[in-house]
Amino acid sequence: MTDSNAQGVLVVGEIEHGAPSAATLELLAAGRALLRKLPGEHLSAVLAGERAADAAARAIAAGVDIVYTIEADADVASHPDALVAAGLEAAKAASPRIVLGPRTVLGREVLPRLAFRLGTALAQDCTALDLDDQRRLTVTRPIYGGAIQATVTCLSTPSVAAVRPKAYDAEVADSGRAGTVVPLTLDLASTVRARLVERVTRPVEGKRLEDARVIVSGGRGLGGPEPFKKLEELAGLLHGTVGASRAAVDAGWVPAAMQVGLTGKTVTPDVYIAVGISGASQHMAGCGSAKTIVAINKDPNATIFKHAHYGVAGDWQKVLPAFMDQLHELLR
Ligand SMILES: Cc1cc2nc3c(=O)[nH]c(=O)nc-3n(C[C@H](O)[C@H](O)[C@H](O)COP(=O)(O)OP(=O)(O)OC[C@H]3O[C@@H](n4cnc5c(N)ncnc54)[C@H](O)[C@@H]3O)c2cc1C
Repeated sequence: MTDSNAQGVLVVGEIEHGAPSAATLELLAAGRALLRKLPGEHLSAVLAGERAADAAARAIAAGVDIVYTIEADADVASHPDALVAAGLEAAKAASPRIVLGPRTVLGREVLPRLAFRLGTALAQDCTALDLDDQRRLTVTRPIYGGAIQATVTCLSTPSVAAVRPKAYDAEVADSGRAGTVVPLTLDLASTVRARLVERVTRPVEGKRLEDARVIVSGGRGLGGPEPFKKLEELAGLLHGTVGASRAAVDAGWVPAAMQVGLTGKTVTPDVYIAVGISGASQHMAGCGSAKTIVAINKDPNATIFKHAHYGVAGDWQKVLPAFMDQLHELLR
């Protein structure tokens, strides 16, 4: 692919229950935002999986001009080999200047491989995208556990970026929008070199951490598993969910699935409330991009206060009940 014929933005999407996943819809909004600086160019997307045609209609309503679809069994399409092949096929058809994909569990594996196969580089873990005056993709990505925001200019074409879920808000769907659906003939099953033996779905109570707009996380400062019930109560009032530091997980107070951080989940909620968490860089690597961070810590010099937008220096046992009383008042 040469630089001169590359145009537009291609989103390598994921399908969930016959619709583009939430992270894919966010990327479509990110793609549309970039196209404001690329007049006359198109937003395309590739959607491979079960009910790809249904998902395509939803993608068009979300702003896509051309959707490349590949109907395939969901188990096949959820394999990285298949999505790499689908992405490549769509990139051949669309010749994009920019390829975006969600930095989900699947995307983390698909996008580096896709970038390699396209002979280009990958910008990982992006939280914001823009174009410079030469129309080169520039991305913002947190480094050193979120302590620094690096701006990276992508010099190769196509520029491939893995974008953190929740970095963008999905646009409101407009079912009156027109777009083109281009079915691609590719036998995805033949691209998968591994055999899926069994799929085990862990039951998730309440909201998944990655999807939550509000997260209340607890750390070693809580002193045991029991106080996490209080955090659940607070999260419930705020329609959120509960996370934890690794110290709380290592102590066996909560399951590992609740861990936020470098070796846990990366989250980007609107509000992250850290209770009894010191703010170690490995923890902040997972939550440092939250839009608003609120800290409750009895040590006024705790590192978490350097990251927090709002903080209360005090014992959570006193602060939390008072905070919840106020909240109950407000919600009455
Ligand atoms: C390779 C590697 C990967 C790691 N990955 C992760 C990761 O993914 N996620 C993660 O979280 N950590 C991770 N860690 C561990 C990390 O370095 C910290 O040890 C951990 O985050 C500390 O957890 P904490 O803040 O709950 O505990 P602490 O550091 O012990 O902090 C507890 C805090 O609670 C406060 N406190 C105590 N009592 C009260 C009270 N009554 N009221 C209010 N505040 C109180 C204290 O002042 C203190 O600041 C990793 C470490 C390594 C080396």
